[in-house]
Amino acid sequence: MTPATFVDVVVIGAGQAGLATAFYLRRAGLTPGSGYVVLDAGSQPGGAWSHVWPSLRLFSPPEYSSLPGWLMPPAQAPGFPPATHVVEYLTRYEQRYDLPVRHGVRVSQVRRADDDPHGRLLVDSDAGTWAARAVVSATGTWGRPFVPHYPGQEDFAGQQLHSARYSGPEEFTGRRVVIVGGGNTAAQLLAELSEVAETTWATLRPPKFLPDDVDGRALFRVATARRRALDAGGPDPGGVASLGDIVMVPPVKAARDRGDLVAVPIFSRLTAAGIVWPDGRSQAADVVLWCTGFRPDLAHLSPLGLRGSSGHITTEGTRALGEPRLHLVGYGDWTGPGSATLIGVGRTAREAVSEVVARIQGPASPVG
Ligand code: FAD
Repeated sequence: MTPATFVDVVVIGAGQAGLATAFYLRRAGLTPGSGYVVLDAGSQPGGAWSHVWPSLRLFSPPEYSSLPGWLMPPAQAPGFPPATHVVEYLTRYEQRYDLPVRHGVRVSQVRRADDDPHGRLLVDSDAGTWAARAVVSATGTWGRPFVPHYPGQEDFAGQQLHSARYSGPEEFTGRRVVIVGGGNTAAQLLAELSEVAETTWATLRPPKFLPDDVDGRALFRVATARRRALDAGGPDPGGVASLGDIVMVPPVKAARDRGDLVAVPIFSRLTAAGIVWPDGRSQAADVVLWCTGFRPDLAHLSPLGLRGSSGHITTEGTRALGEPRLHLVGYGDWTGPGSATLIGVGRTAREAVSEVVARIQGPASPVG
């Protein structure tokens, strides 16, 4: 068996969350390679942004979509940047800071060493094992699309796919497509599919549309004000969810203006031919497109036995409560406000690195 490679910190995942973490590890003076390494299953930079559907655009301008240290450059075309621009930015970010990212390395598990349960965590991958004093998991959610279960789902004779596998409207031309989900993904895919297909939009609750002038900038301001209020010990002024869910990006506005942005209540079951509502009404369908979100991709952490009843790992800040050598960055607000956004993850990453560095080098190490 090949011996483990010793390193201070292993970061798992080189999407925006892993790169922001690596930025602060570099700034704290850790040596690339022997001090910290970033392992990423993807063969190319960009994290989830390299897999999203071609028409996806950010809902904020570049300066509101930037990682620590370097503002996202302006996009070439008018409007908010497309996903390809984010991939380009993350690619250049990796290079700019010479971050020690090993692409094409999938971590299978993180475990405690039997003979040294309080020393290092062992990170097993298809390129060998690392023995780390701290691990930052930043594997995102893209690898775990969520599809709810409905009776009859297995009988449906048409095509079912999750939005993670959607690659554009062309293949759905002329087909009857049921889009399931009440969030931004569903609204945006409905907007483009309704131009070429016969669409039905089914949601659990009536969709909540944001005012036309609210985009990612306004959401960021609300999230920042909330964080400041909570940090100051004041009452919770409410987060962005209280404003609504769906950002009225131009294609969604256009769908509304065409009269296509209309939702119906969720069906109760599927049949071979389509969907059926609780009152017995039915509708034929060729495709069911599940825009039903993602779950944190945490399977590699299973050996640590940390998952609570929520399915998440309970954290204090970013540190796993049951394993102080493990931090989680990204995933959702439970690891820090805005941790799953480009602009918000920097703060979470900085806090995680502060704790990690204090742990491995002593509290005097500067970060920030
Ligand atoms: P990812 O980008 O998913 O990166 C995780 C990385 O970990 C991947 O590279 C993956 O290969 C790697 N990995 C996973 N498992 C392993 C393993 N076992 N071993 C090694 N590597 C592994 N945010 C915004 O700020 N603005 C927006 O406009 C916006 N729009 C969005 C639109 C959509 C449709 C979605 C889904 C999200 C959007 N977000 C937006 C939210 C967020 O920015 C993205 O989800 C972002 O990709 C999260 O980054 P991450 O680094 O946490 O995860």
